[in-house]
Amino acid sequence: MTRNPNDELLHRVQTIRVALRHGRPSPHKPLLLLLAIGRHFSGQQRLIAYGEIEGDLNGLIRRFGLPDSRENAHYPFWHLTNDRLWELDRPDLVRTTTSGDPYLSDLREHDIRGGLTQDFVYALDSNPDFSWRVVGNLLSTYFPPSLHQNILESVGLVGRVGPSWPVGTMPRQDARDPRFRQAVLQAYMSRCALCELDVQVAGQPIGIEAAHIKWHCAKGPARVDNGMALCVLHHKFFDAGLFTVLTDFTVLVGGLASGNSVQESLNKYGGSVLQVIPERSDQRPAANFLRWHEEAVFKA
Ligand SMILES: [Zn+2]
Repeated sequence: MTRNPNDELLHRVQTIRVALRHGRPSPHKPLLLLLAIGRHFSGQQRLIAYGEIEGDLNGLIRRFGLPDSRENAHYPFWHLTNDRLWELDRPDLVRTTTSGDPYLSDLREHDIRGGLTQDFVYALDSNPDFSWRVVGNLLSTYFPPSLHQNILESVGLVGRVGPSWPVGTMPRQDARDPRFRQAVLQAYMSRCALCELDVQVAGQPIGIEAAHIKWHCAKGPARVDNGMALCVLHHKFFDAGLFTVLTDFTVLVGGLASGNSVQESLNKYGGSVLQVIPERSDQRPAANFLRWHEEAVFKA
């Protein structure tokens, strides 16, 4: 059976090789792809010098990467070529270490340029549905839904891909279990575990979500003890690693967030125990999931 060339390209996207750390796939390569796709749709040249993309990519790694990720944008810039979605113009000028990593100085000094492969760019341009699937796939495979819009904004992709693409309607591979939401909200009496926010309209909670502690995309199960009811804002903060919850349910706030209202919205909860904890002990957050969040997501 002959394969549609776009299916072949999508398959490459779905099978990019990434390191697994703390059970979470490292998002360096996906972030580079999203950044390059965003640049492409804003009309920029296909090949870009390493020095020009380094700052942006490192910024994305800092915000959306693992807490202990080093900002080594040169790794994905170099290694993504192996996944046949990215190419470099003069790779022969770059020396590599014994483990195959490029010398950062060579990339900078020789102004090595890299970009999405021609066939990939062609497919992006000729088929909006393909672009939509590529971007949706990268987001749902590596990041929790609460961060998708922030990532799209950061790479300049909001409103650019797909025929009409309201955020939140992206193709998701994770058909969520509505029972999870219901069970989590019930265990927390539909209140935000952090701030106790409890808003109802006509008897239905609004603005309260069931967060996965260990992300669904990191194979966290849809179980109440891997869930926490959080308001929309605190759900986003939790997934962005701005705070975590220790195994004794003490809240730990990181130092990454800044802004006028940080004290009001976050810092004041640091050091205290969660405001809402399920009565039944088997519904409380399980220690192994909390530890995962602290290691793989929390930005101390
Ligand atoms: Zn809240």
